[in-house]
Amino acid sequence: MNATKLKILVAGAGPGGLLTALQLAKRGIPLDIVERDPERSMASKAITIDPFAQGLLTEAGVQLSGARTVSFDLFLDGVPAGRAAFDGTLGSLHLPQHQTEEAIETALGSHDIEVRRPVMVERAAVRKDGVRVKFGDGTEQDYDYVIDCTGVRGVLRGEVDPEYHVEPSGLYMQLCDAPLSWERAADRGYYDVLDDRLVITLPIAGGQSRVVVVMLDTGQAREVWDRQRFTQALERAVRAPVELGEPTWLSSARPRVGVASRFWNNRIVLCADSAKVLRPLGGKGMVSGFADAVEVADALAGVIAGEDSDVALGRYSARRRAYALEMEAWTARLAHHLTEHFKQPGATAREKRTRLLRFAAEFDQSISAVLTGMACPVGFAAKLDNRACPSRLTDPS
Ligand SMILES: Cc1cc2nc3c(=O)[nH]c(=O)nc-3n(C[C@H](O)[C@H](O)[C@H](O)COP(=O)(O)OP(=O)(O)OC[C@H]3O[C@@H](n4cnc5c(N)ncnc54)[C@H](O)[C@@H]3O)c2cc1C
Repeated sequence: MNATKLKILVAGAGPGGLLTALQLAKRGIPLDIVERDPERSMASKAITIDPFAQGLLTEAGVQLSGARTVSFDLFLDGVPAGRAAFDGTLGSLHLPQHQTEEAIETALGSHDIEVRRPVMVERAAVRKDGVRVKFGDGTEQDYDYVIDCTGVRGVLRGEVDPEYHVEPSGLYMQLCDAPLSWERAADRGYYDVLDDRLVITLPIAGGQSRVVVVMLDTGQAREVWDRQRFTQALERAVRAPVELGEPTWLSSARPRVGVASRFWNNRIVLCADSAKVLRPLGGKGMVSGFADAVEVADALAGVIAGEDSDVALGRYSARRRAYALEMEAWTARLAHHLTEHFKQPGATAREKRTRLLRFAAEFDQSISAVLTGMACPVGFAAKLDNRACPSRLTDPS
C-alpha cells in the first residue's frame, strides 16, 4: 500500500487520540483527527505518567513538566506497611490531564496537523476497500482505516465487538486537586488503607496534590465532597492535622472496567479507553492508551510496508489485549486486598496487621505490580520479574 494514498481518521482527541495521531504523523502516515467537543476539557482526571510513558512521550517530541514521585508508600491505619518503589531515577510524573493533552497537541502542530473541532463521528460503515464515515453535520468521507479513540463509550465499538460493555468496578471515588501541607515527604505517593476506605495522595504539577478517596460503591447517590470533607479524610488517614488549600478541581466517579474481546475488525480499530477500561487503582488508564497508540501506528506502518492488514492489526489487538487483561487481573487482586481484606470493622490495628502480614507476599506483589508496573507494550510481567523490586512488607513490632 502506498503511504501517500493511505488515509486514516483518528476519532476523538483525548490523550489516546492525540498520541495516536502524533505516532502516525511521526511515521509519515497522512491522517485527520476530529474531536466532538469545541474545546479541550479542563478536567484534571488522569495525572500519572509512568517511566515507560515518559520515555515514549519524550521520544515523540512531547515536553512535559510535573511533580515526581519515587515511590508509593503504604500505610495501614496510620502504620507504615510497605513501599512500592521505582527502580532507576525517573519515577512517576504527575500533572493534570489537560496539560498532557496540550503538550501532545503542541507536538502534533509541529507536524502541521490540527485537531478539527467540533466534528462528531456519528457512524462508520466498512466497504470493500475502506470505511465510509458519517459526521454529525451529515457529511460523509471515505478513509482506509478509522481508529476509534472516543473513550469509554467507544462510538464505533459496536462495529468491532457488539457484545462488549464496560461493567461497574464496584468502587466509588471522590477526587480533589488542592495545595496540601503536611508532615509527609513531597516526592512520594501515599496509599492509606483504613477500615472503610483507601486514601491516595500524590503531588502534582503547580504545587498541588491529588487526593483520591476510594470506597466500595453502595449504589447510593453521593454529592461531590467539599474541601472540609477531604481535610477530614486526610486527617483520619494520617492521624495529624493537615492544611488543605482551596481546591482547583473536585469530582466524583463510579469507575467502570472492561476489555473488548478484540481491538479491531477489518478496518476499524479500537484504541485506548474505547478498547479497554482499567480499574483506576494504579493510574494505568491513560498511559496504557499511549502504548496502544504506538502499537497501532506500528501496525499501520507495517501495512504500508506490505504486511497483510489482518496480520498486522491482529498482532496489535492480541498484544494490547493481553496487556490489558494482565493489568486488569493485577488491579482486581489489588482492589480485593484493599477493600475486602482490610474491611474489618471492630478489629484492632494489631489484628488487622497480623492479617495483613499473613498475605503480605501476595499483597506486596500486587501493589508493586500495579503501582510500579509499566504500561509497556510487551513483556510486562517479565520486566517486573527482572527488576529488583524493593517493595517488602516488614513487621515493625
Ligand atoms: C474523574 C476521573 C479521574 C481519572 N483519573 C485517572 C488517573 O488518575 N490515572 C489514569 O491513568 N486515568 C485516569 N482516568 C482515566 C483517564 O482519564 C482515561 O483513561 C483517559 O482519558 C482515556 O483517554 P482516551 O483518549 O482513550 O479517552 P478520552 O479521554 O475519554 O477522550 C475521548 C475523546 O473523544 C471525544 N469523542 C467522544 N465521542 C466522539 C465522537 N462521536 N466523535 C468525535 N469525538 C468524540 C471526546 O469528546 C473526548 O475528547 C480518570 C478518569 C476520570 C473520569
